Amino acid sequence: MNVLVINCGSSSLKFQLINSETEDVLAKGLCERIGIEGSQLVYQPADGEKEKTQAPMPTHTQAIQLVIDALVNDKTGVIKSLSEIGAVGHRLVHGGEEFANPTVITEEVIAAVERCNDLAPLHNPANLIGVRACQELMPGVPMVGVFDTAFHQTMPEKAFLYGIPYEYYEKYKVRRYGFHGTSHMYVSRRVAELEGRPYEELKTIVCHLGNGSSVCAVKNGKSVDTSMGLTPLEGLIMGTRSGDVDPGAMEFVAKKENLDLNGVMNVLNKKSGVLGLSGISSDFRDLEDAAEKNDPAGLRALEAFNYRVAKYIGAYAAAMNGVDVICFTAGVGENGIDTREAICSYLGYLGVEIDKEANNVRGKEQVISSPGSKVKVYCLPTNEELAIARATVELVTK
Ligand code: ADP
Repeated sequence: MNVLVINCGSSSLKFQLINSETEDVLAKGLCERIGIEGSQLVYQPADGEKEKTQAPMPTHTQAIQLVIDALVNDKTGVIKSLSEIGAVGHRLVHGGEEFANPTVITEEVIAAVERCNDLAPLHNPANLIGVRACQELMPGVPMVGVFDTAFHQTMPEKAFLYGIPYEYYEKYKVRRYGFHGTSHMYVSRRVAELEGRPYEELKTIVCHLGNGSSVCAVKNGKSVDTSMGLTPLEGLIMGTRSGDVDPGAMEFVAKKENLDLNGVMNVLNKKSGVLGLSGISSDFRDLEDAAEKNDPAGLRALEAFNYRVAKYIGAYAAAMNGVDVICFTAGVGENGIDTREAICSYLGYLGVEIDKEANNVRGKEQVISSPGSKVKVYCLPTNEELAIARATVELVTK
């Protein structure tokens, strides 16, 4: 079956068409600047050139229509007609406590996702616009929603509660939810496969390090803790997001700089992280270049980032009373050779030993620890689209 995987944001839409039998990506691409002047479709068939087409996309429905047109196009299309799309898998961001698993999308499901909208006001409504547009253009094609938060619903209460009045949890469901769940699940499952060990018996720490970053403790096949919270702002130092910070520090800054709540949140989301610390860039390639030239601004940002990741790994090793495997994934985790080495240099007490030669790898599944290392360490590319396609097929063929 061919599955169209859709990741729909407020002004952009990423897609992949995946053959679920071979797990090959037949075509992929994105629509940019939907609803804004200058929109374009980037389309890449598996064995063809990347094409960029400027075309008006006043709404997401028009954007998806252009995607479908590209997929069935005589010259560069990869299918003959819409009937060759068996199902659509949607990435949905926040499922709150409503969803612990991927789910077939029905009107009741859409209503439940809408109930979670105020937990992710930027993402959920945009995700649902994508769902509605697909329903309009592909009536009768089954659709599945795969939530970023779902995998973490197995966290115990002691891990998801904040130390604030319990009534805020009772009244408003204020708690840790965690994100990147599809990635953490894919990577932790995949490493069990590679290790030839039962998923249900492994203690894994997954470090998803990209523009947004999070760490997850997966014990016996279940997420037991993760670094992001109610929103994706908590935890690690990220590209532009602060991660953990004393709320009192922000009250102090707000008074000094005359910022209101929006101003404070803007600083924490967009002006902080390694960008804020370095003043150079949120992109790790730029920071690595700067660090190579011994630029103190680049060095301090990278050191603070690495140290924070190492602290979380330590915390999660404690939470699970041990760790068998540590995985690095996403843009920085898969490509940041020096970053992986620097993080692992803190983990000698766990018996972690990196093999420098093996670690000299980008974007490939590879063991990067030495044979004597007490904990196995992997570079392991994530594949959220494939995980969504698999979940979609599983549900629609049930
Ligand atoms: P997102 O969270 O947007 O999905 P990604 O997982 O794609 O992010 O990660 C993007 C980040 O990966 C970039 O900001 C960049 O810092 C980092 N990255 C990509 N390639 C490299 C590389 N070759 N070396 C170091 N970092 C890289």
